[in-house]
Amino acid sequence: MEFTTQMDAARRGLITPQMKVVAEKEHMEPETLRRFIAEGKVIIPCNVHHRALSPEGIGSMLRTKINVNLGTSRDLTDLDMEYQKVQTAVDMGAEAIMDLSSFGDTKVFRRHLTAKCPAMIGTVPIYDAVVYYHKALKDITAEEWLDVVRMHAEDGVDFMTVHCGINRATAERFKKNKRQMNIVSRGGSIMFAWMEMTGRENPFYEYFDELLDICAAHDVTLSLGDACRPGSLRDGTDAAQIEELITLGELTKRAWDKNVQVMIEGPGHLPLNQVAANMEIQKTLCHGAPFYVLGPIVTDIAPGYDHITSAIGGALAAASGAAFLCYVTPAEHLRLPNLEDVKEGIVATKIAAHAADIAKGIPGAIEWDYKMGEARRVLDWPAQFELAIDSEKAHRYRESSKPEKEDTCSMCGNFCAVKNINRILDGEDITVFDE
Ligand code: SF4
Repeated sequence: MEFTTQMDAARRGLITPQMKVVAEKEHMEPETLRRFIAEGKVIIPCNVHHRALSPEGIGSMLRTKINVNLGTSRDLTDLDMEYQKVQTAVDMGAEAIMDLSSFGDTKVFRRHLTAKCPAMIGTVPIYDAVVYYHKALKDITAEEWLDVVRMHAEDGVDFMTVHCGINRATAERFKKNKRQMNIVSRGGSIMFAWMEMTGRENPFYEYFDELLDICAAHDVTLSLGDACRPGSLRDGTDAAQIEELITLGELTKRAWDKNVQVMIEGPGHLPLNQVAANMEIQKTLCHGAPFYVLGPIVTDIAPGYDHITSAIGGALAAASGAAFLCYVTPAEHLRLPNLEDVKEGIVATKIAAHAADIAKGIPGAIEWDYKMGEARRVLDWPAQFELAIDSEKAHRYRESSKPEKEDTCSMCGNFCAVKNINRILDGEDITVFDE
């Protein structure tokens, strides 16, 4: 092989087959894309072992991508249900799936994903280490943590969330500056607990070079995890969050020195007025590396509706520079999502991503809306269903309440403004009341 990672290839001036595919999907010149990858502003997470992958680029100047979290937990271990969710996510256009399995033989699901799934596959090896070694957390050694990363890399995982930024300095900052929700990141909480119980430095921070060697060997993209992401509006943009972000910025440069592709994970819960500022801070501290946001959820008071609270934050974040949105479902904070929750979460996140793409002027984004506007003007219902982000729901709603006049809908019936104006502009007389 003439190169190790996509970043290595880009820096050597090579345009890889993956870059060609992504350039075509993004309506961008391959040479322009190559330059962004060489600078670290765009990533193509594509593990060399993930042969089923249809590559996608992640960067603020590209179409906003979305991730769907799936996987088993101790309370729900139905693998068939998880396979169904994978198929649904792919069919609905999710570009990435993170396998967050934390129970049972996790490699079965992971290997199924990298063997069959065209979407990018991400994992969080910290969870899996706890399941895999099946022993007390504090007895897991630094070498064993890294071995799980190697195992996931060999299994074809395209990107891994590794909580390298919660080192001893960040942990001290967190302890000194009290927060309302402490640490809400699952991986972050495990790593903090391990450090507290063993008195040792975070192994992913201490042995970051070894971690990079594994990533470079398989072209795994590092998703630098935000252990200290705020878990409530009160904790937004606090000392621990920013301390960790500074560390992530330093680690980004070290990763780039070894040609490892990087993205940075972001908040979390934030008041709406802090979202754009957070994107600017991240861009500055992390040197333009793509930002992967988990929400942000912009109000804490809507359990059952957090696909909406996060879509509001996600749209603003992506319009302000975030490149990748992690979906949030209505089940967030309440339970593992079922299939219906997954669908609603995907649609809400896709709407947020598309709204941001329109604001950013991404080629082809607003043209979709122009087509829908035209279909609405001429009351072409089949075209409206075809263009709808969720055709099935649009169709089901119309079918559930049929209008008396086929070309209108049951909202206004004979008062249909669209129909009446079309007729007036065509020179017809209208009576409205008896039509
Ligand atoms: S009936 Fe009302 S809501 Fe329905 S298409 Fe006409 S104007 Fe729109």
